Amino acid sequence: MNLIIVGKPGAGKGSVAEVFKEKSDIIHLSTGDIFRKEMKEHTTLGELALSYIGKGQLVPDSVTNDIIYKILEKNPSGSYLFDGYPRTVNQAECLEQMMEKLNMKLDLVCDLEVKDDLVIFRLSGRRVCKSCGTIYHVINHPPKKDGICDVCNGEVIQRADDKEEAIKARLNVYQNQTKPLIDYYKAKGLLRSVDGDQSALDVYLDIMEILDNEKGR
Ligand code: ADP
Ligand code: ZN
Repeated sequence: MNLIIVGKPGAGKGSVAEVFKEKSDIIHLSTGDIFRKEMKEHTTLGELALSYIGKGQLVPDSVTNDIIYKILEKNPSGSYLFDGYPRTVNQAECLEQMMEKLNMKLDLVCDLEVKDDLVIFRLSGRRVCKSCGTIYHVINHPPKKDGICDVCNGEVIQRADDKEEAIKARLNVYQNQTKPLIDYYKAKGLLRSVDGDQSALDVYLDIMEILDNEKGR
């Protein structure tokens, strides 16, 4: 099974992916996570990615498409959960070509719907452990000791792109570049909307129900 989760920044794509990983053997493919790992290791790709991500802009499609192809090509028979990719219509078209070439099938695209004010609350309060990636929130889920990770004692920081200016830029990028994807997949009959205001577990359960219903058809 191959599944794409789309939604605004802060819609909770990563949290839902965590639930999927816990409950199935799906491979979580997050381009954001890939870029963050490269940035942490200061690789050439990481430095390039940082020059876009820090400003809330998208990394160029050609770079991102290449990364995905290299991963899929190694294991085309796996089940993938795409999180944060595709993010532009160009990426979606490219993914379609890659999947065709590798004999893969896209089963479902879930649009996680959340309101803008919730997104801003989630992102501006989000903090993340620099070492292990555990996600916190200053109000909903603060670490027990200020600035220190509960899991690994690492430093808990704010992502460069969670600063206010970058959040605004990301929401604009979403409107202009990512939202057209919704219509693209709607036209293909692959799109289903899911309420993103609920917990990640409930979102997961909704998606599983949709998948079950689709199978029954
Ligand atoms: P969010 O969905 O919360 O914005 P992500 O972790 O998915 O966070 O992405 C963080 C940043 O990484 C994005 O703002 C963008 O700059 C870059 N990025 C991630 N995925 C892509 C992609 N598919 N294409 C281009 N840039 C991407
Ligand atoms: Zn940690």
